[in-house]
Amino acid sequence: MKRMTCRQLGGACEMEFRANSFEEIAELSKQHGMEMFQQGDPPHLAAMEQMSSLMGDPNAMREWFEGKRQEFEALPGAE
Ligand SMILES: [Zn+2]
Repeated sequence: MKRMTCRQLGGACEMEFRANSFEEIAELSKQHGMEMFQQGDPPHLAAMEQMSSLMGDPNAMREWFEGKRQEFEALPGAE
């Protein structure tokens, strides 16, 4: 298991996600982001706005995603 926080994944808080793969942790972060979005949490709304401008550019999005994947892969594994 590796850990990354919401903030490390482009979010806005220190909530920690744990997963064995980057795909898994990206999914957890997405679900959390959707929940915060539904609650109208201002810091997450601002973070999402930034992310959505990134998503308008597929190349920038892919680069961001790959950068995060490398960050995840570089983390020491913890039980
Ligand atoms: Zn968060």
